[in-house]
Amino acid sequence: MRLRLRRGMVRTATLVTAIALPLAFTAPASATIAAPSVPDVLANAFATQIKGGNVKKHLDRFQQIATANGGNRAAGTSGYDASLAYVQDKLHKAGYKTSTTDVEFPLDWQEFSPSVLQQTAPVAKTYANPADFVTVISSSGGDVTAQVQVVDAIIPPPPNPNTSTAGCEAADFAGFVPGRIALIQRGTCPFIDKATNAKAAGASGVIFFNEGQPGRTDPLLFDIIEWRFGFPIVMASTAVGLDLAAGPNTTVRLKVDAETTVGRTKNLIADSRWGKSGEIVAVGAHLDSVPEGPGINDNGSGSAAVLETALKLAKVPTKYKLRFAWWGAEELGLLGSEQYVEGLSQAERDKIRLYLNFDMIASPNGGAFLYDGDDSDGEGAPAGPAGSAEIEKRLERFYGKRGLPFEGTDFTGRSDYGAFIANGIPAGGIFSGAEGIKTAEQAAKFGGTAGAAYDPCYHAACDGIGNIDATALDRNAKAIGYATAFFAYDLTGIPDRNAATLARTAAQAATAPEGAAR
Ligand SMILES: [Zn+2]
Repeated sequence: MRLRLRRGMVRTATLVTAIALPLAFTAPASATIAAPSVPDVLANAFATQIKGGNVKKHLDRFQQIATANGGNRAAGTSGYDASLAYVQDKLHKAGYKTSTTDVEFPLDWQEFSPSVLQQTAPVAKTYANPADFVTVISSSGGDVTAQVQVVDAIIPPPPNPNTSTAGCEAADFAGFVPGRIALIQRGTCPFIDKATNAKAAGASGVIFFNEGQPGRTDPLLFDIIEWRFGFPIVMASTAVGLDLAAGPNTTVRLKVDAETTVGRTKNLIADSRWGKSGEIVAVGAHLDSVPEGPGINDNGSGSAAVLETALKLAKVPTKYKLRFAWWGAEELGLLGSEQYVEGLSQAERDKIRLYLNFDMIASPNGGAFLYDGDDSDGEGAPAGPAGSAEIEKRLERFYGKRGLPFEGTDFTGRSDYGAFIANGIPAGGIFSGAEGIKTAEQAAKFGGTAGAAYDPCYHAACDGIGNIDATALDRNAKAIGYATAFFAYDLTGIPDRNAATLARTAAQAATAPEGAAR
């Protein structure tokens, strides 16, 4: 085997030889990461090959691409396509075979005429648009006449907001007759989750109604974001909801005259040629920027570090197969990664042992925030699927061993790991901070300015090549190299879902994007 290692790394090369053979070493117990193991030593040695200066060269290229393409690299633009071509070309030259997968995103939603809601039985009446109901933005077009079925509503409405959990669980639709229109009360979970469950139950349309407390009785205008439900969706007042729920056997005509124009972009995928195809370590970063700027920290930084890791690992025979991914349309709602995971068969998903995500790693006023896979911070979202804690501990070890500060960050589902953890795939990663404000404690720990954003240019035109902390870029890129190389040899503590076919953790809580209307 040929290894492109520096002279001083001859001993590491020997280790590579040793561990590429049927493994004779004993991996450490997973719960406590104690003494350095062979993969740990190897991964640390590999990390030194990842240099911030080389990662920065990829960022310079992304900046040039943005400058030449109207100042951004957003999904569906020439700047994105040029970014993808650059990464792909580098991968090809390093010996990777690459593939792309299609990603759709909503370009524009248009309503051509006001939506219609009429009760046809037991009483004929026409509800007023917009006094009684409004079209939900992003709704598909459709003209359906069908019986209404109430889904788990609290009638009369409860005194406190967000008491109704109508439609939040698939079980709420247990007795739902396919083809009917689901009548669903607002409350607790995002509307998108309720409509997703309605679609799974075979609904032909959805009428939401406001939950019923003071201030929550009018038809609420909101964007459900998802454009692929394929049925009409409206939002009605509490009064209309109660009227339709009263029955018996209420039948309505529901018509929405609207359409979403769909844009197209691509994910870029590169599999290493080493390792077993049934055991994959996946590493990803979103490649698209927002339209407002070049996206050099968000997420040129993660994209460039993953690229540099892939390039340096190209000739290293790893035990497990590596899959590198650059996602499209993350900024439009994690669409590239979601559609990728959705598009895999269950068997293909089960081959992915874990997923590492890197979205913003060089924030100019940032910190080293590690996704809280074990929920040790007890904040927000729960722990990730089994194995996520191991990933967090492994990253902690990289920083801890070097005396570098780090802390946890809630596993919110705000980046591309969301679709993976929702499908039971353990995940982890590094984040250097976005629009959040640095606390005094964090400034003492990481340096930088308290009271200012981690990235003052987050999603702005000034997220250019000057918006990078070179030290953080170097450090975090090395951590990415370390974690990738480590798991490429050692998956101790990461469940083998492929063989075990464990019952899937229905981590649906992670599916709704942050800030989804509810
Ligand atoms: Zn991002």
